[in-house]
Amino acid sequence: MTQPVLDAIGKSPLELGRGADQPFGTWRLRREADKVVWALLDCPEPGTNTISRRVLEDLSALLEEVRTTAPSALVLRSAKPGGFAAGADIQQFTAVDDPARVQRELQEAHAVLDSLESLTCPTIAVVHGYALGAGFEIALACDYRVAIEGSHFAFPEVRLGLHPGLGGTFRLPECIDTTEAMTMMLTGRPAYADKARRLGIADVVTLERHVEAAVRDLAGRGKPDRGTSLRDKVWDLGPTRRMAAMRLRSRTSEKAPAVHYPAPHALIDLWEAHGGDRDAMRKGEIESFARLLTTDTAKNLLRVFFLREKLRKQAQGDPARRHVHVVGAGTMGAEIAGWCAIKGHTVTLSDIALDPIGKAVQSAATVARASHLGSLETREALDRLIPDPREHGVPVADLIIEAAPEKPDLKREILQSLSRRCRPDAIIATNTSSLPLESLSDSVTEPARFAGLHFFNPVSKLELVEVVAHDATHADTLRALSQFLGTLDRLPAVVQSAPGFLVNRILTPYLLEAVLLCSEGNDAGRVDSAAEAFGMPMGPLELADRIGLDICLHVADSLRDHLDKPLPETPPWLAERVAQGDLGRKTGRGVYRWEDDEPDKTRPVGDDPRAMQDRLILPMLDAAVECLRKRVVEDADTLDAAMIFATGFAPFRGGPIHYARTLGGETVVSRLEALSREHGACFAPDEGWHGFT
Ligand code: NAD
Repeated sequence: MTQPVLDAIGKSPLELGRGADQPFGTWRLRREADKVVWALLDCPEPGTNTISRRVLEDLSALLEEVRTTAPSALVLRSAKPGGFAAGADIQQFTAVDDPARVQRELQEAHAVLDSLESLTCPTIAVVHGYALGAGFEIALACDYRVAIEGSHFAFPEVRLGLHPGLGGTFRLPECIDTTEAMTMMLTGRPAYADKARRLGIADVVTLERHVEAAVRDLAGRGKPDRGTSLRDKVWDLGPTRRMAAMRLRSRTSEKAPAVHYPAPHALIDLWEAHGGDRDAMRKGEIESFARLLTTDTAKNLLRVFFLREKLRKQAQGDPARRHVHVVGAGTMGAEIAGWCAIKGHTVTLSDIALDPIGKAVQSAATVARASHLGSLETREALDRLIPDPREHGVPVADLIIEAAPEKPDLKREILQSLSRRCRPDAIIATNTSSLPLESLSDSVTEPARFAGLHFFNPVSKLELVEVVAHDATHADTLRALSQFLGTLDRLPAVVQSAPGFLVNRILTPYLLEAVLLCSEGNDAGRVDSAAEAFGMPMGPLELADRIGLDICLHVADSLRDHLDKPLPETPPWLAERVAQGDLGRKTGRGVYRWEDDEPDKTRPVGDDPRAMQDRLILPMLDAAVECLRKRVVEDADTLDAAMIFATGFAPFRGGPIHYARTLGGETVVSRLEALSREHGACFAPDEGWHGFT
């Protein structure tokens, strides 16, 4: 949300005259002279509203009160500056062992929204920021929705292995085109204000200062007619729905096969069986939601949700660092600088060449647009990104990020020079992906304020950043860098400097094994399909092409000499391809040929992928156990989170260590030993498996 909107909400009627409000637990009631009643949701937790049982009980009591006073309209909105509501209180979904109890609670919750819907006065939800999940469902139970510019609506439940459970499965298709509604629920993708208006979710899109006028206008229209449209009647026909369900199922299976992600398929089944019949949809939605909660997928995805929250907590706090200087405007420097500017920091960007700096500004504009920034916000972000070839920013910056080429001597020279010129309290961070921090730390005058900040490419898409400590890094530096990442909406994983740090150490054996499988005559598409069938968002060879074969080769070469255990050998064709300039997606050719950002991949079907999966996945589990044993990372949760948020490791499996626990340590060890007998010492189990639980 933009600062002007935040300012506007800060001064809006939400805060003024709070004393006159009638408290209703988590809500407050405010009666205006025009008989419009405002119900303001203000949960006790700071920051955001979540829809708990208590919020709904309070809403129910509030509605009883409103019913007796015959207002001209009831307006629901949030008193939190961040947004309307972030969805259901996820905590209540954990450790569900009694689906019948969940069903009872859901029925009670549905009754509250029905009661809201049945009020005789017009009801209006005013949404700023976000209305997610159950928050969106409350807004849908209102007659009208006003979206403040920049706000968005979404059903992210599929990302938790669930589908909407509070009426969303029938209220959204009743509100907008059914195909659009199903797509939103099946993908979890948000509808931003303008799209929400186009689809019919929002009746009005406006600025904060025009909200009262919009509310007056909608209140004057009275209750809308909820008659069934011709379009709805077409969807009510069984055969039409069956055909559409078939198409949805096949599209959904490509990204989310039913065996791994049952929720979207359950939603399609539900709609196919009962679409258009509200009572049957409600009954089916409640039963299906309660059933999904007990699946391993939902349990693991809920775990992933809490892992993200845990890392987010480490990134909380005001780091009071606002000026960032980035050295090197290449692939990573440009991404880092642009993202920092988009997220509100003042950024100076230097490079030995001018050309990359200009390109960095252009690419920041592209990222800003892709991040749904409006034109004013984009201009403000670009104003904050200052080309600085003479490095005027270095003596004034709070934080300096070095993103020069991966050459040890060059990096040492740059760090020495920065260290001489920077503020005495500045933090210097390096984005090195492979150089041990100890080999660089003696180049700076204050090693305690020096650390690694290992962003992944692309910075705007990959949430995780490794905060790399060396022996002399002070805890305050790690905390400040983690908090800085919080301001960038990135997740910090604090790791110790070790070969490959954490993520590359675990990922590299997987990528190399995939390359080796290719050399043995396996089709690249078949290797990738095996990993995708395991649940990876893309196969290792496509990933290698996207990362860049040159970078993969470099990381593998620099890791190889520093590990206790051999890595799979690098076949000569990989180095040959890199030497020819076939580096992957960025050059249009690598393992695959690339066109329109897509690899020319075959997708063989019918193979049993299990043997290949063992060769690909088990070395990752082994490297993960090694990292825990060597204390590269503090705990298994951070490790699992890092691999999920940096590499997309099959989220529904809960991360490599969680998955190893599911299989059982002994099973993994015996399979690794068998592979080691057949394929060599790179599969020999790590000693960390002794006593693994
Ligand atoms: P790059 O070659 O794309 O960019 C490096 C930039 O540094 C170039 O623009 C170059 O002109 C500039 N430069 C060279 N010497 C300089 C100097 N003395 N002073 C200032 N600028 C100088 O490299 P990259 O891929 O962006 O990698 C940068 C760092 O990020 C490396 O340490 C790399 O290991 C790390 N990294 C890269 C990736 C990736 O996917 N590319 C991912 C994570 C980390």
